[in-house]
Amino acid sequence: ENHQEEKIDYVFKVVVIGDSAVGKTQILSRFAKNEFCLDSKSTIGVEFQTRTVTIKGKVIKAQIWDTAGQERYRAVTSAYYRGALGAMLVYDITKRPTFDHVARWVEELRAHADSSIVIMLIGNKADLVDLRAVPTEDAVEFAEDQGLFFSETSALNGDNVDSAFFRVLEEIYGVIS
Ligand code: GDP
Repeated sequence: ENHQEEKIDYVFKVVVIGDSAVGKTQILSRFAKNEFCLDSKSTIGVEFQTRTVTIKGKVIKAQIWDTAGQERYRAVTSAYYRGALGAMLVYDITKRPTFDHVARWVEELRAHADSSIVIMLIGNKADLVDLRAVPTEDAVEFAEDQGLFFSETSALNGDNVDSAFFRVLEEIYGVIS
């Protein structure tokens, strides 16, 4: 018998979206298992991973969904967004087009997800400082304009990954409680 299961107060579904190869799967592994997998597509076919956290005394099971590569075929379906309370919208700070496409992903969220969904814009691969192609200020401006939270992360060294997820989970808790 799993006693932790019994005490869960809430399950929050959070989806991870963004262009291919920005690091979505790695961000999820970093948060759920504190791992960075060199064989990056080992989780293909796995729909979600979970991590249970405590926020304001409540036990919250975060159920984090991965597209498992569907975005390559522009085939992320509305089923993927169904019931999602949060979204991590990821781009790669070294690949300008992945940031230019963020507006399209926001539109996709506005079309398919609940209007109260909490969205965190994430500039990933912040460890690759010499290859930066997206200035932080551009992303800050976009996020402010669209009412998104924003963070730069590195799934590789773990920088800001937990804090970004915690921010979203706290915000969701604030919305539903
Ligand atoms: P996805 O297609 O968005 O799920 O991207 P993946 O998680 O498969 O990552 C794509 C590639 O970027 C892989 O080669 C990862 O090892 C690499 N990667 C992911 N996150 C980071 C990061 O924070 N820093 C660096 N340097 N590489 C990363």
